[in-house]
Amino acid sequence: MMIDLKQFDVWFVTGSQHLYGPETIEKVAEHSKEIAQALSHSDKIPVNVVYKPVLTTPEAIRELCLEANSARNCVGLITWMHTFSPAKMWIAGLTALQKPFAHLHTQYNRDIPWSEIDMDFMNLNQSAHGDREFGFIGSRMRLNRKVIVGHWQDEDVQASLGKWTRAACAWYDAQGAKIARFGDNMREVAVTEGDKVEAQIRLGYDVSGYGVGDLVQYVNQVPDSEVDQLVKEYNERYDVAPSLRRGGSQYQSLRDGARIEAGLRHFLAEGNFKAFTTTFEDLHGLAQLPGLSVQRLMADNYGFGAEGDWKTAALVRAMKVMGAGLDGGMSFMEDYTYHLSQNNMMGLGAHMLEVCPTITEQKPSLEIHPLSIGGKADPVRLVFDARPWPAVNAAVMDMGNRFRMLVNAVEVVPTHEPLPRLPVARAVWRPQPDLKTSATAWILAGGAHHTGFSQALTAEHLEDFAEIAGMEFLLIDQDTTLSAFKKELRWNEMYYLLTQGLR
Ligand code: MN
Repeated sequence: MMIDLKQFDVWFVTGSQHLYGPETIEKVAEHSKEIAQALSHSDKIPVNVVYKPVLTTPEAIRELCLEANSARNCVGLITWMHTFSPAKMWIAGLTALQKPFAHLHTQYNRDIPWSEIDMDFMNLNQSAHGDREFGFIGSRMRLNRKVIVGHWQDEDVQASLGKWTRAACAWYDAQGAKIARFGDNMREVAVTEGDKVEAQIRLGYDVSGYGVGDLVQYVNQVPDSEVDQLVKEYNERYDVAPSLRRGGSQYQSLRDGARIEAGLRHFLAEGNFKAFTTTFEDLHGLAQLPGLSVQRLMADNYGFGAEGDWKTAALVRAMKVMGAGLDGGMSFMEDYTYHLSQNNMMGLGAHMLEVCPTITEQKPSLEIHPLSIGGKADPVRLVFDARPWPAVNAAVMDMGNRFRMLVNAVEVVPTHEPLPRLPVARAVWRPQPDLKTSATAWILAGGAHHTGFSQALTAEHLEDFAEIAGMEFLLIDQDTTLSAFKKELRWNEMYYLLTQGLR
C-alpha cells in the first residue's frame, strides 16, 4: 500500500483588508504566490502548497474555510497576515473550519532596508503586528494550531512546516479510516483497551471486530500459486533458514505462513482497512500466530497492534503516513527487557514476533522457532537488529476523559554482544535523559508497554499530530526532570477537566 503525500494539498491563505488600496493588495497577492510556490517546491515539504486569493472580508474568509472543509485532498491551511487583517473578520471562518491550520509568522522581506525604509515599506511588511492580531483570535477561540516563526526561505522554517504537513496528512488519513480487529483484547490487559466510540468521535477512525474465522475463510481460499509466489519472494529477499527451504523439514510451515499472509492481504484490501490487530489467544483455524505476515504488512504501511491493541495499530498507521518517503522506518514495538548495569542502562525493545523490517538495514533472516504461548504450531518470523540511530517511542493511552500521547526520545545502539539464541527482531536503546528518569516518568504517565517506534520521525512530528488531534502530549527527552514532569501531569489533569467548559 503506497503512501504518496504529493496527492495532498495545503492551502496557503493570506489575510489582509481593503484599507490599503488595490495596489497594496496586488503586491500582497504577488508575494503570497511567490512564497506558496517556494514552499511547494521545498524538498522539506512533502505536499503541494496551493496559493489562495488574498482574503479581505469576513464573507470571503468563511467561504474559503467552508470550501477547505469539503475539498478532497486539502489536509489543512497555512495562514499568514502579510498586512493587518482585523481578526473579528476571521471568527466566522475559523468557527466553521474543520481542517487543521498552521500559522506561519513570517515576513516577505527578510531584512529591514535600513537606508530606504519608509512608511510604504512599513505598511506592506507588517506581519509583526498583523500576525499578532490573528494570533489573538486563535487563542481567544482556544484553537489548536502550530505557530512557526522565521523567514520563509529558511531551512528550519520549511522543515518545521514540513513536519506539520506530515502530521496533517496523517490526521486526514485517520478520518474514516477502518481498523480490523481479529478477536478481542488479550484478556485482562488494561492499557490496550479503551473507548472505541470516543476514539471515533475524537480521532476519526473506526475499529471493527471480526471473528478469526472470518480471516480463516480468506486464508483457506488462497490458491497454491499465490503461496508459491510469496515463498519465491521470501527466498529472494531474506536469508531463509535451511529447514524452511524446499525439501527442508519445516518447509510446510513457511507455506502456512505465506498462506496466512496472502489471506490477510486479501481480507484487508477488500475491506479497505488501513490497520489491524491480532491476538494469540484467538487463533482458531489458523495454523500459527501471524508473525512474518504481520511484519511484511507493516512494511507495506499497514498499522498494527498485537493483543487487540487498536490504539497502537492506529498510531503505527499514523506514523507510517507521517514518515512516508523519509529515511528510516516505523514499527510496532514493545519495551521488553532491561540491561540495568550501573552507568550503562539500556532497554531492549522487541515483540513475540511482530517487528517491522523497515527499521533495519540488514538483510533479515527468516526463521522458525517455537512460541512458548498460544498453543499453536511454530510461527515463521523475520529476525534482525534495528539500525543504530536516534529514534522515538510513542504510546497512546485512554485516560478516561482524554487520549494521552507519550513520547520518549531514545538512541538505538549497536549490540556489541551477539544474541544467537534470541529468535525475534529487536532494538536496543538508551532512553533520554537516562533510563531511570525515562522509565519513572513513563510509568507515572501511565505509558503503555506497546509503542509506535520510528527512526524517521521526531518528537515534533508527533507533537504536531497530537495538537491537531486535540490529544494530550507529554515528552520525555534530554530536558526532562522528574519534579517538573510530575507537576506537568498534575497541571494537565486540571487543564483537561477545565477545557471541557471553555470550548
Ligand atoms: Mn504485547
